[in-house]
Amino acid sequence: MKKKITVVLLISILISLILPSSMARADFLNGAPALIPLRRDTVVATRLDSSTRVNDQNHNFHTFEVDGQNFIRVRDLAYMLSDTPMRFSVAWNSENRTVELRSNSPYVAVGHELTKVDPGGKTGTTAGSLIFIDERLRNFNTLNIGGETYFRLRDLASAFDFSINWNAQNQSIIISNGAEQVAYSISASQGQNARRRILHTSNPVIALTFDDGPGNATNAILDVLAQHNVHATFFVLGNRVYGNSDTMVRMANRGHEIGNHSWSHPRLPRLSEARIRDEIINTNNVITNVTGVTPVLFRAPYGLSGNRVENIVGSLGLPLINWSLDPRDWQSRNANTIYRDVMRDVRDRDILLFHDIHDATGQAMIRLVPSLLNQGFQFVTVSELMCFSGITLQPGTIYTSGR
Ligand SMILES: [Zn+2]
Repeated sequence: MKKKITVVLLISILISLILPSSMARADFLNGAPALIPLRRDTVVATRLDSSTRVNDQNHNFHTFEVDGQNFIRVRDLAYMLSDTPMRFSVAWNSENRTVELRSNSPYVAVGHELTKVDPGGKTGTTAGSLIFIDERLRNFNTLNIGGETYFRLRDLASAFDFSINWNAQNQSIIISNGAEQVAYSISASQGQNARRRILHTSNPVIALTFDDGPGNATNAILDVLAQHNVHATFFVLGNRVYGNSDTMVRMANRGHEIGNHSWSHPRLPRLSEARIRDEIINTNNVITNVTGVTPVLFRAPYGLSGNRVENIVGSLGLPLINWSLDPRDWQSRNANTIYRDVMRDVRDRDILLFHDIHDATGQAMIRLVPSLLNQGFQFVTVSELMCFSGITLQPGTIYTSGR
């Protein structure tokens, strides 16, 4: 049964500077119960640039993080959730200086006063705010920066009856309301390149992976992925990184995940422990030096491992990522064959194996990516796939799909 929710939110900063704050609050709340005193603080906020793609349109926005808590503009969240059962509308009433939020059945009202803020946008003001849920009063903080009011995601979740789960390993957030799950994920490191996207559990998700590069087709593949605003995972060879550092930087900056595929592509079960460790550690080091991002995934050359190799990889803190669909692009080297086999066999939560060293693979992507999008497939990186599927990656364990 759906909870009855009535929410009244109040931020009264400007007015509280002029009037006794109890008077200002009474105007907004119209006979509501006695209020908890409001609190104001100046805080340092970290800006996160984000984007989401909804109904074929890119929507750029930003959130702010204060003390590990995430603040989002309410209208951005409304926009992101507009396609889901968690949708709600936002309307500004200039006469009352209130914001009204309405979801499906519960009625939610928010009243606020904006405060003057630091034009640099680094310093914000937190304001104590009040929220009524099921006639119980709760106290929480909002953040005012640049004339905009930001809400803590989890406070809105509470108001709208959905849950938020933070996965520290993948730096991801999963939003769900029971009826539908939405992954709101951050796959890049927090900071200027952090990005967030919305995924619907009603549609299938797949992870494209490209091995053995950077190579001949890497830039062509990056072009196709950029054209459709989708992301993939590249398992690169350490010995190819320095010679292709521009491509590596482009890959990282576009938000693709970079995994470790060893230094020189040997059959690992034949090597000593020391050499296996060198293959992996040197590759992570060179990738970190060139891109600033340290891989958290390993793919064994030829998918060859065994207990001893798995233990060594596990001791370095990395899971082993194999695949669930291999269109054997290295064998056919034919774009039509690759396209046909993938379209015939692809399933929800697949990890697809390709090689970005073959031109035919790049050509196949030109048709494959839009065709898969048309069929409703959502493209995610391997880490996002696992997060979305509720799988926590364990070092030394082999994963082949998100199923
Ligand atoms: Zn390989």
